[in-house]
Order: sequence, then C-alpha cells, then structure tokens
Amino acid sequence: MSVTADRERGVLSGVPTGLLVGGSWREAGDGASIDVEDPSTGAVLTSVQDATATDAAAALDAAAAAGPAWARTPARERAEVLRRAFDLVTARAEDLALIITLEMGKPLAESRAEVAYGAEFLRWFSEEAPRIAGRYGQAPAGGGRILTMKQPVGPCLMITPWNFPLAMGTRKVAPAVAAGCTMVVKPAAQTPLSMLALASIMEEAGLPAGVLDVVTTSSPGEVVGPLLRDPRLRKLTFTGSTPVGRTLVEQSSQQLLRLSMELGGNAPFLVFDDADVGAAVEGAMAAKMRNAGQACTAANRVYVQRGVAEEFCEGLAEQIGSLVVGRGTQGGVQVGPLVDDRARSGVAARVDEALEDGARVVVGGEALGSQGYFYAPTLVRDVPAGSRLLTDETFGPVAPVVVFDEEAEAVALANDAEHGLVGYLFTEGLDRGLRVAESLETGMVGLNTGVVSDAAAPFGGVKASGYGREGGAEGIEEYLETKYVRVASR
Ligand code: NAD
Repeated sequence: MSVTADRERGVLSGVPTGLLVGGSWREAGDGASIDVEDPSTGAVLTSVQDATATDAAAALDAAAAAGPAWARTPARERAEVLRRAFDLVTARAEDLALIITLEMGKPLAESRAEVAYGAEFLRWFSEEAPRIAGRYGQAPAGGGRILTMKQPVGPCLMITPWNFPLAMGTRKVAPAVAAGCTMVVKPAAQTPLSMLALASIMEEAGLPAGVLDVVTTSSPGEVVGPLLRDPRLRKLTFTGSTPVGRTLVEQSSQQLLRLSMELGGNAPFLVFDDADVGAAVEGAMAAKMRNAGQACTAANRVYVQRGVAEEFCEGLAEQIGSLVVGRGTQGGVQVGPLVDDRARSGVAARVDEALEDGARVVVGGEALGSQGYFYAPTLVRDVPAGSRLLTDETFGPVAPVVVFDEEAEAVALANDAEHGLVGYLFTEGLDRGLRVAESLETGMVGLNTGVVSDAAAPFGGVKASGYGREGGAEGIEEYLETKYVRVASR
C-alpha cells in the first residue's frame, strides 16, 4: 500500500507529523525529518520531524510552564478530558488501527485490540482522577494530627517503544493527566504516528496547550540527555529494553528523578501434567504469537511436563503451522512482519545458533518473502540449556520448548532468568496453581490464561524487568507525591 493509497483511504493525511510544543505543531529547528516505514514492504509511509535537543528543551519549557495551572485544574475537569479522549479514540478506532498496522505491521485485528486496550487506560484513569485522596489521623502519642495529601509529581518525560505504539502511550499519558502532571513524550522513531494521532485527539478532547508535548527524534540519547539533567523535570517513565533502561536510570541519578521502568521480559510458560492441554495450547498461542512475538509479555520459554509434552507439542505445532503470515492490512492475516531487518536477523541468528547446538525445528525456522521483514512462526524442541533462545528475550514468533519432570524443576527453570515481568502456568490443580504463582519471581502471573494485560490491573515487573506499575489503582500513584502535614492539637 502506497502513501497515496492510504491518503485515498483518508488515514495518513489526517495524522500530524510535526512536533507538538506548547499547543503548536511545528517543524524541527534544523528542518530534518525521519522516514516512517511500512515494515511489511519497507516502503516509506510518510516522514515526521527529527527533533534536536533545542526542540526538546522547548517542549520541556512548555510542559513546565503549563504545570502549575494544570495541577490546580479540578480533578473532575481532568477526568472529563480523559473521558472525551476515550470516546474520540473509540470513535476513530478504525483509523487508529490502520495507522498502527501501517507503521508497525501487526494484523488489523490485533491493532483494533490494541486501540480498545489503549482506550481503556483513558477511561480507567478518568475514573481514578476524582478518587485521589489523602488521609487524616490522630498521632498515636497524642498532641498532633497526621494529614496526608497527594500532589502531582510535576513535569514527566515519557519514552515509549514501537511494539504497542498507542497503548504504551495511553498507559503513561492517562494516569499523568489524571494526576495533574504535564509531560513530554518521546515515542519510538519507528512508530511515531500513533502517538502523534493520540496527541491530536488529546488536544481535541480539551487538554490545555503544553500539558502534553511530543518530540520525535532519531537521536534519542542526545535529545533526552539534557532533559534528564534539567532540574525542572521531576519524573522519567520508560518502556523499552533493559539495557536502555539501565542507561537511563544512571543518567537520571543526578536529578534523583522519580522513575518507572517497564523493561524487557522473557516470560516462562509452564504446562503441568494436570493441565487442560487444549487450553494450554490456546494460551501459548496468545502469549507467544500475538504481535509476532514482539511483546514484553511474550512466552519465550515454554516448559512442559513430560506426561503431556507430546500432546501439547503436537497441538501447538498444528496451530503454529496453520497461522497465516502476511501484510497486516490483508484480511485473514494472523501474523505480520517483524519491525525491521535488524530485528529479523537477530531472531534468525538465535534460531540458527540453537539448531547448531542440537535443537530441532518442528515447524517454521526461516525468514519468509522477498520484501518486508517476515519470519515464519516457529516451534523449536530440545533446546539446550544456556541457549540464547532461552536466556535472552527473543522478540519474534519463535516458541522454544523444553520438557521437565518435577514441579520444583519447572519453578527453578522459570526463575533462572534475568528478567521477571510475567510468568504463565497451566494446571487444573488449585493448590498447585497458587503455590507456583507464589513461587514465580515475576511481577505478574497468568494462571490458565495467556493474556494478563488489563487497564484495571497493575502491570509491571521485578528483577531486570524494572519497577513501577502501570494501570490499576497503583498506576496513578506513579504520578503522585505524598505530602504529610503535621497539625498541632492543643
Ligand atoms: P528500546 O529500548 O530500544 O527503545 C525504547 C525507547 O527508548 C524508544 O523510544 C527509543 O527511541 C528510546 N531510546 C533508545 N535509546 C535511548 C537512549 N539512549 N536514551 C533515551 N531513549 C532511548 O526498546 P524497543 O526495541 O523499542 O522495545 C522493545 C523492548 O521494550 C523490549 O525489551 C520489550 O520487552 C520492552 N517492552 C517492555 C514493556 C513493559 O511494559 N515491560 C512493554 C513493551 C515493550
């Protein structure tokens, strides 16, 4: 699909491509731009502005200037902006889904699901804004009262990844707006259009100028670095890879910024002998193949107990083998391309390495097509311990399966990982389900389900998957400070 064809469909023509600074859409200071590619063809869809550090400083100026008035805006007004944004996103779901599919590659059905999921954060936090409250108590020793109040953290920097370009934005923007914070958002250079479209919707919903500023850039380190050293910035919230997260934590230590780090995952997926094997296969498909495996929640290490290993692998191979791979805009397609050539080469290299070490491919195992960055949905068995396919986060449609015998062995394998975002387990035993859920070193657990994401639930990890929670009642706390007031009682 060419840009012209998209324009004819009335989609890309409506998406802003400028920087949003203080309520104005403008060009980058040096006039440079970044091409946005369709990963299913490699064709350029459009280009957006390539911000410099000076542009980013202007965005922080705007966010800082808008801060005091926005913090004083009544919670009900902030909530209503979010609620209108929810309605607008929902009404424009088809346009937004097409933008996501074009710039990121996932099938339209998945993009629609992302729009619905992303919109839920707007609705959920519109409901949370009026419920921000402190507490009142008597000092236990007498002579005083303890009051606490919640106040917005202040200007935030938000850095988002390309894999869920809309939902990873609303998951940060909505609680910040609800809490009364202002923000500078830097979306991933591969997928800036979804965030720009969202920013335009937030404006239309009545968000005052400067509260949400957006800078797109091809030089994130150079552009973000000075912001992290600026004393007006109070918080950094980052969703992305663990190595970049570590660098940002170091850089933000000078200003002792409040931090939320939603980093990589390498989720274990455990299937026990007493599982409903059909449900486990369905769960594995959802947890592994959604977004072509490019999800922080993707099931990257599948551990199956010996008694059901053959039945499970046969079922999974059949389903993986029947997936329709293709351009996300085409009807019936279930798996799109990987985001770029580098991503695909990385996945292919890991599979090849595992095969050299003795693993065997049951289905898939190769790059596909002559254009775009497609990789066949793949099931690999007999993956040796220590293979990078197990130790590192693989962002692709590859399910490595390992057989285990004992529950304790499965838990040890699951926890033998740097990351700790989510773990999945399938068992019909209630006691085992809860026992293993308690034992997993992860921030989230899917018990007999392959999908955990929910705007009403706290999303986040432990270990190298970071800290902080997005969504749920916890999500707004990331954007609030607690102030304690001691009141003398006489
Ligand atoms: P990435 O770390 O390469 O990039 C993420 C963002 O950081 C992008 O906007 C990028 O431009 C920016 N960035 C890169 N280098 C930077 C620097 N030096 N300074 C400032 N910003 C910089 O990650 P990615 O490849 O875009 O996304 C995939 C990763 O994100 C995976 O590891 C995945 O698990 C993780 N992820 C985590 C969650 C979660 O909630 N835990 C959700 C989605 C994705």
